[in-house]
Amino acid sequence: MNDNATPKTQSPLSGLNLTILAPAEGEAAPVAAAPVANGSGHPVAARVVIVGSGPAGLTAAIYAARANLEPIVIGGVVGGGQLMITSEVENYPGFPEGVQGPELMGLFRKQAERFGARIVDADVDRVDLSGRPFRLWAAGIEYRAEAVIVATGAEAIWLGLESETRLRGRGVSACATCDGFFFRDKTIAVVGGGDSALEEALFLTRFASKVHLIHRRDAFRGSKIMQARAAAHPKIELHLNRTVEEVLGDEHVEGLRLGRTDESGEETLPLDGLFVAIGHRPNVAAFRDWLTTDEKGYLRTDGATTASNIDGVFVAGDVDDHRYRQAVTAAGEGCRAAIDAERWLEAQEAHEAPRAAAGAATAQ
Ligand SMILES: Cc1cc2nc3c(=O)[nH]c(=O)nc-3n(C[C@H](O)[C@H](O)[C@H](O)COP(=O)(O)OP(=O)(O)OC[C@H]3O[C@@H](n4cnc5c(N)ncnc54)[C@H](O)[C@@H]3O)c2cc1C
Repeated sequence: MNDNATPKTQSPLSGLNLTILAPAEGEAAPVAAAPVANGSGHPVAARVVIVGSGPAGLTAAIYAARANLEPIVIGGVVGGGQLMITSEVENYPGFPEGVQGPELMGLFRKQAERFGARIVDADVDRVDLSGRPFRLWAAGIEYRAEAVIVATGAEAIWLGLESETRLRGRGVSACATCDGFFFRDKTIAVVGGGDSALEEALFLTRFASKVHLIHRRDAFRGSKIMQARAAAHPKIELHLNRTVEEVLGDEHVEGLRLGRTDESGEETLPLDGLFVAIGHRPNVAAFRDWLTTDEKGYLRTDGATTASNIDGVFVAGDVDDHRYRQAVTAAGEGCRAAIDAERWLEAQEAHEAPRAAAGAATAQ
């Protein structure tokens, strides 16, 4: 997801049959000039709005739709999540021969739509979670929801090189757990200086014949114990004061051109793969002012369930998980969030119905 992504010019809701609310008295219409559902300019209502269409969001959509919650998924301008930028996925259960990432996400989407989930390819850029119904804006349209599931994921931070983008999925990766297996007996490099880079380098020694660990400074930032383990490992070679200037290769990775930060000069390192381990950025921009984050910027849940600090707002997937970061764990959390939302709505409705009935009786 790109926080600065340009909204689509066409209404993302065209063709959908959605509930349109009339504006409450004295209330301003949603953002003028922007595309509006059915041209009415009125907010769109749903019992559950799910934000994000990766494994977490679409699994939540499958469960919520099958529980008759008629969810709307505001899935991001770039729908499908991180698996859209990878090729072979070999560890998602149910696919003994493996499956291409985009194909897997196409199947998730089809399954969610089969049960009636409505998916909008737009980014939520603003929310108001001060009370129910919760309000969310995407591509100029206001959505109102009784419950919200935030499943916006976390983006890997890349080096920003053209050659790195071109060779992603062809030897360049940001996930050792996911792709390490493909580098059995190969020479690879890990770039980064924190604990994640050290952990990934050590993990990759299970497959690779040689792991070059590249860091731009003269010392690693990771813990002393991890540094000592990496330095002592016979398969790991440290390259301090080096930057990756270019990933070499046309069809697949063939090497790296390294620059030096301590003196002038360049060098070439022949190898088969590059793992970028310089961090992840959780996609929390629209929610930052409302939902509690941890010290790394990830959304927090209560620990036992997927509940956030706001009643009726639930969190699932990589946006709150910097430990496991796998499609199957994200999907599992999406399932939990949908069940939590369903039970929460049921409890609210059970609580509110007698009060509404009492109010009606008093009014008579
Ligand atoms: C290169 C690479 C290879 C990988 N390979 C594997 C693998 O082989 N196996 C495996 O299990 N895992 C793999 N992973 C990890 C896996 O992709 C993630 O763990 C998983 O996708 C997380 O799912 P998620 O739904 O939490 O988030 P994501 O997949 O990141 O999806 C988040 C979604 O939210 C949307 N979004 C973000 N902000 C907004 C907003 N403001 N409004 C609306 N929508 C928004 C995004 O556009 C995106 O569609 C890989 C990751 C990478 C980077």
